[in-house]
Amino acid sequence: MRGLGIFTWFGYRIPVPERLRLIREAGFDTVMHWWDDSFAETDGFTKEAQAELIRREGLCIENAHLQTNQVNDLWLDSPNGEAALARYLADIDGLAECGIPVAVLHTTSGICPPEMSRVGIKRFRMLADRAEQKCVKLALENVRHTDRLVTVLDTITSPALGFCYDSGHDFVWSDVPYALLARYQGRLFAVHLHDNNGQNDDHLAPGTGAIDWGIVRNGIEESSYQGAYTLEGDGAAAYPAQTPQAHLAVHYQGARAMLYGNE
Ligand SMILES: [Zn+2]
Repeated sequence: MRGLGIFTWFGYRIPVPERLRLIREAGFDTVMHWWDDSFAETDGFTKEAQAELIRREGLCIENAHLQTNQVNDLWLDSPNGEAALARYLADIDGLAECGIPVAVLHTTSGICPPEMSRVGIKRFRMLADRAEQKCVKLALENVRHTDRLVTVLDTITSPALGFCYDSGHDFVWSDVPYALLARYQGRLFAVHLHDNNGQNDDHLAPGTGAIDWGIVRNGIEESSYQGAYTLEGDGAAAYPAQTPQAHLAVHYQGARAMLYGNE
């Protein structure tokens, strides 16, 4: 049976070791990690130290999300563009060293990313080449501007470059929901599963919004993806009155009901 995981950040500011214990106690077997140290001071652990804590808790690391605030720079022919490339190349090396098999990255950030550029495509090719050398898979996630994602994936046919399907982003931002999942079923390396009502990117538990989970489940089952169902149960879904345990339980039970059928 396919495993079940959740993002290490699920919306509650509690110490990292406790967060991980609650994830395991809720029944999850795997997590998605955040590969960036911008929260290291508040969290008290670097990304590498957190990876160790995750494994010590008996959880697997399904993939790690690379930071997103330099993604737009990848499209710029400027020193910032080169700095972004260097950063993401180093991140891929870091994942390889840490034994994390999949890196998740966006191709754009926000509503108005820079124009498509030759240098941008060249840099994504360099990232794919580095991933291939290091035996890491690079999964590009659908956000806004899915035309850009499609161009990158269709232009660069590296075996190390594939798709991270985000069900919530798809439902809010794609012209035709579920089409990307079908289009890249042979290159699916990661999934971010969460629900919404088609208006906002709410990151709700599966089954509590309007997404057709039968289509999502079949799309994943028919794909090349072998990994766990992994949830992004953070953000707006954290109601102040709800305990972290209750929050995790809602996501766990939603995923069981929507994704595992009669198993
Ligand atoms: Zn996502």
